[in-house]
Amino acid sequence: MAVVAGGKEGLAQLEECLLIWPVEIGWHSLMFETSIALKWDYETMRLAAAREAVAALGLLLPSTEGRIYHFLDKRLTDHPTARCRAWRKHGEQMTMEQKKANGINPRTFYSRAAFAELTEAGRGRPLAAHDMTLLRAQFTVFRYSAVIDSRQVLEAYPNSFYEHETLNSECPACNRLDGLQTPADAIALFPPAGCICETANYRVKPQIDWLEDID
Ligand SMILES: [Zn+2]
Repeated sequence: MAVVAGGKEGLAQLEECLLIWPVEIGWHSLMFETSIALKWDYETMRLAAAREAVAALGLLLPSTEGRIYHFLDKRLTDHPTARCRAWRKHGEQMTMEQKKANGINPRTFYSRAAFAELTEAGRGRPLAAHDMTLLRAQFTVFRYSAVIDSRQVLEAYPNSFYEHETLNSECPACNRLDGLQTPADAIALFPPAGCICETANYRVKPQIDWLEDID
């Protein structure tokens, strides 16, 4: 597996890898090995996180990964669920009858464009589909940013490490990560194999031994 570069070249390489990547290998193969993903720039990571979340949850059509990518803007001006709500509110709305027929409260905003992005499974949970997908991708990007922002400092303190902190109480795979201490290249950047929750809402915190150089 070649290391993926950053910028436009990185995106092109990522696209190429995913095109030739057999679906049956799944999302937790070499492609998304942490040591490789940490060499990507933010744009490449955004796309990979969006793609993983869309594919893993199956609530949005694959063509919607660009929407999730767009919502993963680095300027966190609003909550991910507010972004999704604003998107459903934007543009031509479904009729009252269409909303009722799809289990949506007629008073709830839901654009035709947003509804067209749902898979069959997503239509069963129209108010959760965008939100859960974006939250999953956002947590992945948060973990990436936590490492990128602190990596230089940790390199100066070799006894330092990252600690996983899991907020989810229902997912055995995510819960197994809680308290796990690893170097950057070994963190669970993408949700772990066997993850049964939707958002995989665990984070990684840098733990720096500031005093290690002091005798
Ligand atoms: Zn999980």
